[in-house]
Amino acid sequence: MDAFLTLVQKNPFIKLRNTCLVGPRLVHKRHVLNSYSYGFKNRAVRTANLLPTADAHLSLEVNTEKRGSMTDSVLEDLSWPSPNDEIPFWKKDFPSWDMNQEVPVNIEKDSDLMHIVHITAEMAPIAKVGGLGDVVTGLARACLSRGHTVDIMLPFYECIPKQQINELELMTTYNSYHDGSWVPTNVYRGVVSGIPVILIEPSNHFFKGQFVYGGSYNELEAYLFFSRACLEWMQVTGTQPDIIHVHEWQTGALPLLYWDMYHHLSLKKPRLVLTIHNMEHYGECSKEQLSMCGLDGSGYATIDKAIDDRTIGHNPERLSLLKGGIVYSNSVVYHGILNGIDTAMWNPAKDVFLPSKFHAQEAEGKKICKRYVQRGLGLAPDCSRVSKDEPDSVNRVPLVVCITRLVAQKGLHLITHAIKQVEELNEASRRDVMTSRTMIALERSAFSSTFQRGGRGGGRGSFRGRTAINVGNYIDGLHGGEIAQVDMEGGQMVVLGKASDGRVEREFEGLSNLVILMELYTASFPFPSSLNDLNCFPEIIEMLLTFCEELSHMLYAAADMVLVPSIYEPCGLAQMIGMRYGAIPIVRKTGGLADTVFDMDDQSNSDMANGFVFEGIDEGSFNWALDRACRHFREKPDEWNDIVRKVMEIDNSWNNTAGKYIDVYNSIRARC
Ligand code: ADP
Repeated sequence: MDAFLTLVQKNPFIKLRNTCLVGPRLVHKRHVLNSYSYGFKNRAVRTANLLPTADAHLSLEVNTEKRGSMTDSVLEDLSWPSPNDEIPFWKKDFPSWDMNQEVPVNIEKDSDLMHIVHITAEMAPIAKVGGLGDVVTGLARACLSRGHTVDIMLPFYECIPKQQINELELMTTYNSYHDGSWVPTNVYRGVVSGIPVILIEPSNHFFKGQFVYGGSYNELEAYLFFSRACLEWMQVTGTQPDIIHVHEWQTGALPLLYWDMYHHLSLKKPRLVLTIHNMEHYGECSKEQLSMCGLDGSGYATIDKAIDDRTIGHNPERLSLLKGGIVYSNSVVYHGILNGIDTAMWNPAKDVFLPSKFHAQEAEGKKICKRYVQRGLGLAPDCSRVSKDEPDSVNRVPLVVCITRLVAQKGLHLITHAIKQVEELNEASRRDVMTSRTMIALERSAFSSTFQRGGRGGGRGSFRGRTAINVGNYIDGLHGGEIAQVDMEGGQMVVLGKASDGRVEREFEGLSNLVILMELYTASFPFPSSLNDLNCFPEIIEMLLTFCEELSHMLYAAADMVLVPSIYEPCGLAQMIGMRYGAIPIVRKTGGLADTVFDMDDQSNSDMANGFVFEGIDEGSFNWALDRACRHFREKPDEWNDIVRKVMEIDNSWNNTAGKYIDVYNSIRARC
């Protein structure tokens, strides 16, 4: 029994029914009862009695739906989150997830096996900032399951959560060179989501800090050190993989170090592959900085080696580590191979972060995920059914999510525009409702915003802007009075994004403010009586300016649409992950987005159709796609459900593309 209780208490999604177990949080939850009610399907104002407790409130939701489906029992067992929870729902303790169990067993093994070592600045999920981390983990797992030996070497960042590394042990301590001296360096080995990792931990200040990037050390120098330290470790331990696969500018100097230094020592066998995931950064470097890793920097300042061509004739001229890596690698991959997604890590049927699992043949759980996220973020609830036996309501509210690094490449102006567009749609809808006769009953309404720095918004340095619009319009007080709900025709949008540039971060913080100002301008209702009241209103836009892997899983699962408006995108994973989780992509036609998403209204390609595509980088083009997606969602619910099923079944896994990397490896490996 004790073990059972522990299990139940540890499961973040199970509601504790036994009153003995009700702790302060549940009591708190009752206190902060949400003010919006569920189950009203007409676009008119209705009122309902406010029930005295949160649990009773949930009962209303459950009882109005037909009993008996699997979904219903899931609903009853769920502990629903609220925006007022002390610990936000994405920061709960989640059960551990043994990825080894997830690897498909029926993958055919390759006959000609090799040892591949990835050397990288990122690895999902322990040190992930963007797609690089996903790609390295996904490709490594795919090669492992084909029978190859694979290791991933990465810096032992201070921010890496050690509890996510299994079998972590110190392997050895050795010295590696930096700027005229030898730095004592620890090497650890462990297993991360089923993949062997080797972690390099110098005893100096490199890689210290709370985040993967942006610590208070010189990043370029730290990665130069890391590049050499990996080769030095191979030299010291006699490790000679067939392939060293380096990624991005951070490891661009490694091929130089290999061919001009370590290959003349004892490393003879390895051959080098460089993958460029993103051309935005190229490791701009001075000759003196390159010399810090023990190479003669000035020897690389030539056009056929590492000089950055754009700086020729400038004083001083600069080097590009990425160019050096391109020149010195045996093979370079950029664009040529479409990435896949790690279907073990991105699997809605097993994902431990989801309150309800689902898959293409049984997608009801997706609706629960949507409602869960809506409730947790304080977004107005959708009126679509959550029980199988009920017909879908026509008044469904599309939830659009955008999960991205907030950098220019990702189409910041279009993301900004999308936020305003969704806001405006709702405003128009709200005005429409307000002028209708039924609204005469409304006595007052409210709109609000609350901003929280840090704390529950996602840890230090994060920002959570909440814009509340009273879509479920408010009648007659919150304290035991009656609540009304008006369905609206706009949509909801959640942005989960982290900016590395303080200016961009401030811009997005400012955007939250702007949205509120728009509210103030267009609304003609009195302010609510207290700030406390404001927290109780459902919202339509949520901006979470932080990085959170767990929340990203939940958002993909909750989303009806995933927005990827990139200006350029070598491959892009968000659209593929979105599809796997049943979110229809809205993308700009560029790079890998154009290769994976095909427009629903393109009659010439209806077999492939799986999303909404726009071409221009202007707002008009974007509006056109968003508008079509929202109309489709609202007006053709059955077709929409079909397309959701279809995109979930698309195979964007590494199983399809890892073979192309294996071909590259085979084409360059030394068979001595
Ligand atoms: P890029 O590599 O250019 O960042 P991709 O689309 O290839 O873009 O991959 C982005 C990956 O990073 C996806 O897995 C996405 O879910 C994740 N991601 C981006 N921003 C965040 C965030 N703020 N929180 C959690 N995950 C994020």
